[in-house]
Amino acid sequence: MANSEQDTIAAISTPVGEGGISIIRVSGDQALDVVSRIFKGKDLHQVKSHTINYGHIIDPASGETVDEVMVSVMLAPKTYTKEDVVEINCHGGLLATNRALQLTLTNGARLAEPGEYTKRAFLNGRLDLSQAEAVMDLIRAKTDKSMKVALNQLDGDLSRLIKALRQDILDVLAQVEVNIDYPEYDAVEEMTTKMLKEKASEVRQRLETLLQTAKEGKVLRDGLATAIIGRPNVGKSSLLNALLHEDKAIVTEVAGTTRDVIEEYVNVAGVPLKLIDTAGIRHTDDTVEKIGVERSKQAIETADLILLLIDSSRPLTEEDRALIEATAQKPRMVIFNKTDLPAQVDLAELTELVNGDPVIQTSILEHAGMQELGQAIAHRFFNEGIESNRGAVMVTNARHIGLLHQAVDSLNAVLEGIEAGMPVDLVQIDMTDAWNTLGEITGQTYQDELLDQLFSQFCLGK
Ligand code: GDP
Ligand code: ZN
Repeated sequence: MANSEQDTIAAISTPVGEGGISIIRVSGDQALDVVSRIFKGKDLHQVKSHTINYGHIIDPASGETVDEVMVSVMLAPKTYTKEDVVEINCHGGLLATNRALQLTLTNGARLAEPGEYTKRAFLNGRLDLSQAEAVMDLIRAKTDKSMKVALNQLDGDLSRLIKALRQDILDVLAQVEVNIDYPEYDAVEEMTTKMLKEKASEVRQRLETLLQTAKEGKVLRDGLATAIIGRPNVGKSSLLNALLHEDKAIVTEVAGTTRDVIEEYVNVAGVPLKLIDTAGIRHTDDTVEKIGVERSKQAIETADLILLLIDSSRPLTEEDRALIEATAQKPRMVIFNKTDLPAQVDLAELTELVNGDPVIQTSILEHAGMQELGQAIAHRFFNEGIESNRGAVMVTNARHIGLLHQAVDSLNAVLEGIEAGMPVDLVQIDMTDAWNTLGEITGQTYQDELLDQLFSQFCLGK
């Protein structure tokens, strides 16, 4: 491995191209030395820790001034990485920031890998693994609610719960060890088995409660894949535009280069919707829009939520009926649009046709019913989940969910083993597995590949 975990790293840690100030974060033993070589101002080796110092970044080779800066000096261990950290606050825009970064690299620092600061925070014991993952979720958080869940996790709610459960298991395992030393007493064996059984079912119960939060958690974290469906002219593009305009904080991620893979997120009443196949419903002047049932089918299949539009001012067509049929098995909300015009569709009849799924009356043109639509979506997905669970620990992360399931499996094996009359020392193995698996959530037990894989998903500079 070329990159050591000890050398001094540098990266721009603010979003590129945004705002007036960019921050270059330098972390490691040599942080002060590196920045001192390119900084003109106070002697950074002499200033107090956790102070901000005015000066200039100078290219030592040419003597040229690169930028006017404020430099924060933060000495270990009270820093994000628990190492010496020096942050250069650049004012001179992207070019100057890049030049300053280059200068740190030619003067003793190495460019940080994505997630490397957080990885160091983890390796130096500043954060546990689930907290490090929360940092990543925070960076990506799409709504206030997602942010809150990530913040709670960063605060260590999940870690505390998992650690408490692991301690419970460990206590029982220790007790079992002691009891195994007295195999001659049948009564002890019976007592040990009973204790294992009680603890295994108790922990399993708590893990299952936690897993019940996973569905809502996943929605908050990844967004709810939503397809806007309807025959031509019902108002799909109008709805898309209305949703995009109402949401001031649109997150647009361009995953590839073609238009088709653009994912758009909108925040509807706290629910992040990931709108799918929006390329198909955007109007372009030179193409005739045609979304047939066939084309829609793919979007319907991948969606977690269908918004099915019906034009209330026109009698139902064959195509409407086909789309109602095609979406029947999916979580669906029907939008009864163009209510500003005289109705040609009977609302009661339509409600019956869609098997009693919620029908929301809108006039997208006149902006009526949009709030009701938002409320209906939030209600559908969060009412019995997040709202009533306020303050409770939630799992949002796919890795955690997988490990929780795996721990439940081990506990099931414990209970089945006891039921089948297996010897205690065999049952103990499954109980130990559960303990180990839970440890992977917080990183108390971990493998190097896992770390590399996890932290590489971070953005640069975090
Ligand atoms: P799409 O083909 O399903 O994408 O439908 P559009 O969004 O392009 O809308 C088709 C036409 O219906 C446009 O002229 C819209 O202005 C109009 N329209 C959309 N929503 C409403 C509405 O609520 N009331 C009325 N009167 N017209 C609407
Ligand atoms: Zn359209």
